[in-house]
Amino acid sequence: MKKCRHNSYFTPNLFKIISQGLVPVIPQLLPKAEHRLCARHIFTNWTKIIKGAPLHKLYWKAVKANTKVDFKDAMKDLKQQSPKAYEEMCARNVNKFCRFFYKTWASTDVTCNNMAKTFNSWILEAREKPILTMLEEIRRQVMSRMVDKKTQAGKCMGIVSPRIRSKLNDFRQAIRNWRPIEANTDAYEVQHTHNSNLSYTVRLDQRKCACRYWDLNGIPCEHAIAALCAKNETPENYVAFWYSKECYEAAYSSCMEPVNGQALWKKVDEAQSYQVTQE
Ligand SMILES: [Zn+2]
Repeated sequence: MKKCRHNSYFTPNLFKIISQGLVPVIPQLLPKAEHRLCARHIFTNWTKIIKGAPLHKLYWKAVKANTKVDFKDAMKDLKQQSPKAYEEMCARNVNKFCRFFYKTWASTDVTCNNMAKTFNSWILEAREKPILTMLEEIRRQVMSRMVDKKTQAGKCMGIVSPRIRSKLNDFRQAIRNWRPIEANTDAYEVQHTHNSNLSYTVRLDQRKCACRYWDLNGIPCEHAIAALCAKNETPENYVAFWYSKECYEAAYSSCMEPVNGQALWKKVDEAQSYQVTQE
């Protein structure tokens, strides 16, 4: 077996990752990152054991519940309909793939790993090629994408990105269903216009709503927007920094440097660069 001694950090970590898998290694490398599991991936495995559309619907109801009450209700229904389905779900680390348990500082409530799947399909053609060609093609694709996104960010109007602006406009349409009642300068009780039993407390200073959409996503929900409009405030000013035009531009402000063709690459003297021994 060949043993590479030139890189004392990378090599032991690589062997550790291969032998243990990614799960125990990532918290060591990224101690401040919240580790979530893909609910779609877990669902696929869960449905190999648990059959039936009503149970599957309850799975997603529990996964997408923002509040403790909604999560507990969904789990209670699941337990009543099928104790086995409930046990199989509890055995799968619900605190890592159900929204109710998510930390709020990440400003996203995504439950599925769509980003990685989209990236994988985006590089599908390149993935079929030999490793060096594959890496070079992916690098060029990413290089072009950085330029496209930078151009888009430059054209962005307003203080938030276009997707967030569109979401806020959707919520603005829904505020006619809500009646904000002021309790204090930054505190409102927002009541449904046709259902007096349905109301949420909104704290503008803490950027929180009892429905927890604002807490989890960093984007004011329709209840918060109803309160903000009552106070003559602009909802865009209450969106998390991560969705601002400033952050959008900063994310794509750098570029991937262009690289010469292989004919111009520096020749590596393997004997000098690596201390390779035979075992
Ligand atoms: Zn809300």
